Amino acid sequence: MKILVSNDDGVYAEGLWALANELRKIATVTVVAPDRDQSGVGTSVTLRHPLRMIKIKSPLDEIAAYSVEGSPADSVILALRLIMKDGVDLVVSGINEGPNLGDDVYISGTVGAALQGFFYGIPSIALSVAGFGSLHFGVAAKLAKLIAKEIIEQGLTQRILLNVNLPNLPQDKLEGVEITRLGERTYADRIEPGHDGKRQYHWILRGKSEWKMVPGTDIWALQQNKISVTPLFGNPDGVNRDFLKNLAPSLFRKLVNDMES
Ligand code: MN
Repeated sequence: MKILVSNDDGVYAEGLWALANELRKIATVTVVAPDRDQSGVGTSVTLRHPLRMIKIKSPLDEIAAYSVEGSPADSVILALRLIMKDGVDLVVSGINEGPNLGDDVYISGTVGAALQGFFYGIPSIALSVAGFGSLHFGVAAKLAKLIAKEIIEQGLTQRILLNVNLPNLPQDKLEGVEITRLGERTYADRIEPGHDGKRQYHWILRGKSEWKMVPGTDIWALQQNKISVTPLFGNPDGVNRDFLKNLAPSLFRKLVNDMES
């Protein structure tokens, strides 16, 4: 099995390597990711500049790693069209530092990377932990491995894009897995002006989220200390629907077993 790992926090982010370290237990992993933090660039693809990419020294010996001077989506396109020409079974983007919930998925670079995999017809997963600073990446990485195994074992080749968010909790504090839909929040961006000595500038600062707590949404699941798995872009077809229906109950049991072993 061949897995492409990318992200939007940059190729040296801790979450990316926690993920790669776990996925290498079940697959050949290749890392292709932006050279710096590209959080919030969404689905952006660079079409008006050339892209530079270098092979970097990988922190994990058997994993080839490339750094791209571009967006998360750029990184995945270069990986699929240039580096991994023999084919990719799965694209996993993350583990992002911070949640990617509700309407925010449209500006998420983590989702933007996974979306390219989806466009190319490869099962794809975006993975985020809803916290900042000290994060439980280990639980998220194990979960990614288990979902990857399910997708491969079931021979799932239909277009599927899963947006997975975990509460930032140790495994024994988690209450389960929910298949969800995107939640809604109010937007209250603030503009903070400043001056650089020559010209005025503006910072867009994201306002405090006020979420609508609707049962069945991703934000609601996290509020219940549950892992949220949201299928993105359209209604899943029959095969994917069955896959998702069976995924939730067994996934959590397997996660608990895996963490204890
Ligand atoms: Mn990010």
